[in-house]
Amino acid sequence: MTAVLASGHQLAGRRPWACDRCGASWLAVEPGPCRLCGDGQLAESDVLVNGEPEAVVRFAIDPQEAARRLEAYVAGTPMADPDARAAAGRLVPHHVPAWLVDARLVARFEAEVGFDYDVESTVETCSNGRWTTRPVTETRIRWEPRAGTLERAFDNEASPALSTWNAWLEVLAVPDPIVGGRLKDDHPILLPDRPPELAWPAAARGFKKRAGAVVQEAAAAAHVREVYIQPVWEDVVWTWVLFPVYSATWTDASGRKRVLRVDGRTGRVTGAVGSSRRLGWIWAAVWATLGLVVLGVSAVSVLPAIVFPVVLLLTFAGGALGFVLLVAAIVPPLRVYRVNRALPDVDPCVAHAAG
Ligand SMILES: [Zn+2]
Repeated sequence: MTAVLASGHQLAGRRPWACDRCGASWLAVEPGPCRLCGDGQLAESDVLVNGEPEAVVRFAIDPQEAARRLEAYVAGTPMADPDARAAAGRLVPHHVPAWLVDARLVARFEAEVGFDYDVESTVETCSNGRWTTRPVTETRIRWEPRAGTLERAFDNEASPALSTWNAWLEVLAVPDPIVGGRLKDDHPILLPDRPPELAWPAAARGFKKRAGAVVQEAAAAAHVREVYIQPVWEDVVWTWVLFPVYSATWTDASGRKRVLRVDGRTGRVTGAVGSSRRLGWIWAAVWATLGLVVLGVSAVSVLPAIVFPVVLLLTFAGGALGFVLLVAAIVPPLRVYRVNRALPDVDPCVAHAAG
């Protein structure tokens, strides 16, 4: 099933490439920066493929809307880094893979199914020296064993095609059910790094869960547990499905590339945004200058206070305000420091961190 797509050959109208930093494999019309790590360049390479993309979840938001969502997201960070703020103008679309698996299950099963039943009882309480009796109804579960044979076809069990899929689930809201159309665009396609052989255990767990639900439904039970299945899987069909993502790279103060991502279906934005040290110091200078000006005016007001003692109150108030402004000047650089210190060391969507 897994085959080598040699450098220079085409699949789905695209040629194979590999990132020279993170090693991710891509199908793309032309080379360019790696949209996964944001740091590497695509170089011609042989890649491993399994069939070709058959189902494409459509982009539901256009690039302009994605840019607006990204701008709003970045603006949520205090004194956001100017390069992160400019990232909305660099958004590019691409596709992220997953597997959809169809299979027919022929199995012997054992399970415990649970039925709810009510138990009537009373509660005695003593209040102000008087006992009162209150009836209560408690719901309990009666467990009964079930065994038999099960033959059922299951469709569209989603299974990870990427080793970093758990991180991608923070980026993508996977629709249920997954409805895909034909591939019509020429956006780059990130290739699976988890072939069907490795993705099968996750699919089998999903099928087993669904088989448990079938047993529960057949028994008209409210609960099911301890499902043991001796399965034989037949007619297993793997479909390569693609999810839509926009991504943009920005460079932090240390020169490190960071990637912001917008779910092409829901518009949800994820990724790390840093604060600008320069903006932090500019705001510090503004607050400090204001504080010094107020302190200066307060000092000058000491002279008229000799003639008009009531002015002394303004002198003290101004002095206190100036002092507060001077102390507040340290807040913007501190906020910048805290935001940047919280930036993650690795991008969880990248399997092999650039380094
Ligand atoms: Zn890369």
